[in-house]
Amino acid sequence: MVQPNDWRLTSQENYLKNVELFYKIYSDRKTETDHDHCEFCLATFSDAIHDALKEGYTTANDYWWVCKECFEDFNEMFRWKVIVESK
Ligand SMILES: [Zn+2]
Repeated sequence: MVQPNDWRLTSQENYLKNVELFYKIYSDRKTETDHDHCEFCLATFSDAIHDALKEGYTTANDYWWVCKECFEDFNEMFRWKVIVESK
């Protein structure tokens, strides 16, 4: 159970509460960024870095990313609506 004082919480409720999240392969993103970080634990998403995350949850604009572990931990607190994109 995640506590409200969890070190990963830094006011993400201002932009990530009650939003739709899409489960996506990182290389399918629409943005031009070379890499991103999990909004909570700062884990790296990247195509180029071997041990970086290759898939996770992201907002509709592919701007904010959340890793699987943080998704599990904060899903209840943030009340996300998950959309799995079919291929
Ligand atoms: Zn994370």
